[in-house]
Amino acid sequence: FNVPVAKNEPINSYAPGTKERESLQAAIAEARSKQVDIPMFINGKEVRTDKKVPLSPPHDHQHILGHFSEGDASHVKESIDAALAAKAAWANMSWENRASIFLKAAELIAGPYRDKINAATMLGQSKNAFQAEIDSACEIVDFLRFNVQYMTEIYKQQPASSEGIWNRVEQRPLEGFVFALTPFNFTAIAGNLPTAPAMMGNTVVWKPAYTQIYSAHVLMEVFNEAGVPPGVINLFYVDGPTAGDIIFQHPDFAGIHFTGSTAVFQHIWKTIGENIYKYKSYPRIVGETGGKDFIVAHKSAYAKQVATAITRGAFEFQGQKCSAASRAYIPSNIWEDVKKYVQEDLKTFKMGGTEDFSNFINAVIDEKAFDRIAKYIDDAKASDKVEVIAGGGHDKSKGYFVEPTVLLTTDPKYTTMCEEIFGPVITIYVYEPEEFEATLKLVDETSPYALTGAVFSQDRYALEVAVKALEQSAGNFYLNDKPTGAVVGQQPFGGARGSGTNDKAGSMINLLRWVSPRLIKETF
Ligand code: NAD
Repeated sequence: FNVPVAKNEPINSYAPGTKERESLQAAIAEARSKQVDIPMFINGKEVRTDKKVPLSPPHDHQHILGHFSEGDASHVKESIDAALAAKAAWANMSWENRASIFLKAAELIAGPYRDKINAATMLGQSKNAFQAEIDSACEIVDFLRFNVQYMTEIYKQQPASSEGIWNRVEQRPLEGFVFALTPFNFTAIAGNLPTAPAMMGNTVVWKPAYTQIYSAHVLMEVFNEAGVPPGVINLFYVDGPTAGDIIFQHPDFAGIHFTGSTAVFQHIWKTIGENIYKYKSYPRIVGETGGKDFIVAHKSAYAKQVATAITRGAFEFQGQKCSAASRAYIPSNIWEDVKKYVQEDLKTFKMGGTEDFSNFINAVIDEKAFDRIAKYIDDAKASDKVEVIAGGGHDKSKGYFVEPTVLLTTDPKYTTMCEEIFGPVITIYVYEPEEFEATLKLVDETSPYALTGAVFSQDRYALEVAVKALEQSAGNFYLNDKPTGAVVGQQPFGGARGSGTNDKAGSMINLLRWVSPRLIKETF
């Protein structure tokens, strides 16, 4: 059981003049200069169709990076058949072999594939170099390394036995196949959702978001090169409802590993419920979903620290992190300073394409997201309850660009204080310092989600009051730090209420969802 002790992959800075920066820039230039022809990957084989869908960088939507082959219902069925056929051999393979395949995948990403996968994330999802690095290089590597360690701890655990009696537990994979349904915003999540169940001996069918296919394809190349056998992870590009119709009717459907919006997850849960009599077992339903993440400052908080948490916590990757701060509650005694620091900081944020490494803000993912976010901003501009403190502009002529926008509202229940926008918009409500406890109550009452939250205070007692009052309002709770940036192995991530089943991605809790233990008692 002596697997390598998992360590977090160090983050490259890509500072000007470094060889890492030159090498990443070369990978981006190469990706821009050629046309990729991305296949699906079913039963160990590349599968192409006549239906070629173009891929473009969100920050440069007239440039075509290449095409992917879109599939149909037949490809979903083929993927399920392949997963079921591969199941017995994979489940019976020693766990050491399975572990070494995923450790190999981690080293391929950390080494020879690093530039390729970062370039794909930067061009395909419009992440700047640093945001790509912490996602498609470091976080996915961390998921693979730490999950291998948690996996060995699971296999190690055994019940007590006594003389003449041997009790043992077999951690069997689920009976059937697992569906990994992944979002656009993290390449690492797209990589973790199929590999975590696969590691525990399950076979998987995987559908990524269409806007993440460029980097999903590189992940699949890595899994293949690392030695994942045919049929163990099957990747298809078929629209969600078509795939769902087939998968959720199938008697061998054993579980779903989902990350995405709350509405889609609720729809899926309902569909599974409606089909419950068709399945051999109760399917495992694991989902991490939306958020409306908050920052609360106490009157003793440092204004500069709060302002930095607002600008970084709300606007990294254009606010398209499930953990991104999107509402803040600031006491009036520090508000003017917080406002000044926020406005100053935002003046340093350059916006543009990811090819220019000095741009901090890039484009939002697609036109649908752009239109949704722009509407929230335009409605706010027209409201007499809201003042625009910074940003407010948007332009989709070249790419889907939305300025980092800070709104100030007099109504703590205004739409943008309550609904997930999933873009670079944060709304601030200023309260009187003596209303701290009432404000905490308000935060909790307006939290149908419970993903992340942050409280800032130099007064320990106030922090304790907040920890108690907001007990149910966040699955990841930060004291004097921004609510984004969870690190695998250090801050296992997930939320409750409308934010998900809180099975903590990258943890033993999560891996335990992909096994069905059998207890064997043998008497001699
Ligand atoms: P989404 O719900 O639109 O899509 C997620 C996946 O579901 C995609 O692959 C999509 O094609 C598929 N899908 C959509 N409709 C479907 C249907 N009817 N049937 C079957 N599949 C369907 O989410 P997104 O826009 O890709 O991601 C953003 C959302 O993800 C945000 O709400 C964000 O908060 C959430 N998110 C949560 C976490 C977390 O850890 N809690 C992490 C990342 C993202």
